[in-house]
Amino acid sequence: MTARILDGKSLAAELRAEIAAEAAALHAETGRAPGLAVVLAGEDPASRSYVTAKEKACAAAGIRSREITLPASAGRADILSAVRALNEDDEVDGILVQLPLPDSSIEREVIEAMDPAKDVDGFHPVNIGRMVLGLPAFVPCTPAGVIEILRRAEIPLSGAAVTVIGRSQIVGRPLSVLLSQKGVDATVTLCHTRTNDLARHTRGADVVVVAAGRPGTLTADMIRPGAVVVDVGVNRVPDASRASGYRLAGDTDFDGLRDVAGAITPVPGGVGPMTIAMLLRNTVEAARRRRTAPA
Ligand code: NAD
Repeated sequence: MTARILDGKSLAAELRAEIAAEAAALHAETGRAPGLAVVLAGEDPASRSYVTAKEKACAAAGIRSREITLPASAGRADILSAVRALNEDDEVDGILVQLPLPDSSIEREVIEAMDPAKDVDGFHPVNIGRMVLGLPAFVPCTPAGVIEILRRAEIPLSGAAVTVIGRSQIVGRPLSVLLSQKGVDATVTLCHTRTNDLARHTRGADVVVVAAGRPGTLTADMIRPGAVVVDVGVNRVPDASRASGYRLAGDTDFDGLRDVAGAITPVPGGVGPMTIAMLLRNTVEAARRRRTAPA
């Protein structure tokens, strides 16, 4: 069997066109384009390239973006005061603090300082709580992107057995909640580093989502033939043949799985583009809610 490649890039392009139309309609209705503010502290090259990609995607969708760049030496007070100023700024509909921060011990406090109505990353406890309760909320972009890829690729989830590898607060855990929600209706197994016999849980699954941050976590012998594989991982693997000295790889043995899986997302070009599209969607949604909310 040769797996169908779930092309996140073209699925995301479809979605981005829809979002651009919504942003244009909101602009026309309210006289102002939706606006995103991105806080970037420090000079981590991966964070820099993620922020640039997000800003480019905003521009293409008719969303204004503003970058607040802080030095790596910026302390807790500087970052908190930048976030609080953005909370008060009426021109800003969505706020994104690019993680990791140089001092990761303050991340939770920074996220909690954000106005939940502008938390387009969906990391604030208010949004997480509302998501768990099935109430309208900003949902974290990567898990939302995984669901959106599967939905647009018409992979059935209702009643399906889905195994998620990884229980991080930004990917695996919220994804497990979304998948089991009414309306999505998957039966979810959430695996992590303490899981005994990972392959037992992946072999029983119709869909396996890998978000472990380790190349080669899922191999061909670990799935049943025809299963769908979503690879969330983004790893920089040393590669002397490239000018950059590295290549991007996911968490799966992609070449091996291609012969066994029914469908698989590539890295790059799978979940990544959809994650960015979900950020745009949340930003337009934040703008709509703020501008149309009853006074
Ligand atoms: P994390 O390190 O916070 O969490 C990894 C999780 O995987 C942990 O819960 C750990 O228990 C589990 N894990 C690791 N190895 C395992 C193994 N062998 N068996 C079972 N469980 C295992 O990582 P994260 O922030 O969730 O990110 C995961 C991956 O997804 C990373 O490669 C990251 O770069 C990528 N990512 C991609 C996007 C995107 O837009 N494509 C967004 C966010 C994260």
